[in-house]
Amino acid sequence: MNDYINALLHEAVSDKDIETILKKAARFQGLTTREAAALLTSTDEGHISRIFEIAGQIKSHIYGERIVLFAPLYISDYCINSCTYCGFKGNGSHQRRKLTQEDVKAQVAILEKMGHKRLAVEAGEDPHNCSLDYILECINTIYSTSDIRRVNVNIAALDIEDYRRLKAANIGTYILFQETYHRPSYAQFHPIGPKKDYDYHFKAFERAMEAGLDDVGAGVLFGLYDYKYEVLALMLHNEALERQFGVGFHTISVPRIRDTEGGKVYPYGVSDEDFLKLVAILRIAIPFTGMIISTRETPDMRRQLIKIGISQMSAGSCTAVGGYGNNPSTLQFPLSDHRNADEIFYWLMEEGILPSFCTACYRRNRSGAKFKDLAKKGDIKNICLPNGLLTLKEYALDYGDTRFKSLASKLINQKLTDIENPTLVQAKLQELENGKRDIYI
Ligand code: SF4
Ligand code: SF4
Repeated sequence: MNDYINALLHEAVSDKDIETILKKAARFQGLTTREAAALLTSTDEGHISRIFEIAGQIKSHIYGERIVLFAPLYISDYCINSCTYCGFKGNGSHQRRKLTQEDVKAQVAILEKMGHKRLAVEAGEDPHNCSLDYILECINTIYSTSDIRRVNVNIAALDIEDYRRLKAANIGTYILFQETYHRPSYAQFHPIGPKKDYDYHFKAFERAMEAGLDDVGAGVLFGLYDYKYEVLALMLHNEALERQFGVGFHTISVPRIRDTEGGKVYPYGVSDEDFLKLVAILRIAIPFTGMIISTRETPDMRRQLIKIGISQMSAGSCTAVGGYGNNPSTLQFPLSDHRNADEIFYWLMEEGILPSFCTACYRRNRSGAKFKDLAKKGDIKNICLPNGLLTLKEYALDYGDTRFKSLASKLINQKLTDIENPTLVQAKLQELENGKRDIYI
């Protein structure tokens, strides 16, 4: 992979080649790695602004003007790995903690009051202090004692048998970040613990898919190595899964490290300009995969990123175990968007973007290849918009004050005009008014 990617990044590309690639991209046909490499290495301002324009068109055409919201729930920061960039690394001196089931209920109750319906359960790797049995117990507690409707899971690489157990727990997406695809950098940043094994980590999605988990969420921690290399490696990984299982990543997360963070210097740290460019190129290259941004990014960056490709974001997040409602000391990573969930929902509405708490696809069994087929036909937007409207209405009724209700109502009426036959949705909105809940199509 290494030589192949490096060769692509050094190929000569003419302006005419780039024009041809951009024309193809504008037809929402995705890109080959060679085409993506050509865009990644271009520094021409005209080409770059065209990349942003096309990325924006793809975002709007495929996903519509909505953002799906979620919150992370850190259940344990015990970890036997030592990823050098992480606040939970095993050789750190902080007091470790994992949630009791009562703690889980209390944390989830706070997240529910924020309006969240979709969580990402997060835990460090420590089979002794944070076993899979414990994680499954937490998932069961969440589903059985709350109105949380989708639990995605971001935990260490497992074997096939354990992925089967995760599948049986009815999780949404199984998320695992490769962090960096560049082997020497991977070795440098992951010196200790099971995660040190690049190949076992890299092949985790194959095992997960063999175990029946067909929604897998990938990610790179941009800034550990050259972002151009990482984008191409991510694409190759996605293509390999598509070849083997008929479907690639369900989502791609794009956390990043700047050139300095936490007092450390990262020579490959990614500037704002490069970050926007790489997100736009990923949007163009893999148009039918959701893209996720966390509260690592500032409000202004998040505003720009949702216009060029991001379809999901966290809101009101805390990256510490038991951090909701408390004043946590040890964060997994520092946040740059400190707004509470409510402020983010207001902000999105004021930008004309629909805050969506939708979890419909997974509950309608639209996962894996079935989901991708809908997305490729351009049909997913027609499902996302009605569902987003229904969830916003539900949120407004249950949690909104007068101002929120009025803003939500205005946005819902405005977005209803984008639906070809709004009668069905209007009827369902009325059912919510009448007291029914959890309505989705
Ligand atoms: Fe542990 Fe994950 Fe942090 Fe690595 S990134 S030290 S595996 S919690
Ligand atoms: Fe996501 Fe499906 Fe809901 Fe759209 S309809 S927001 S793709 S769960």
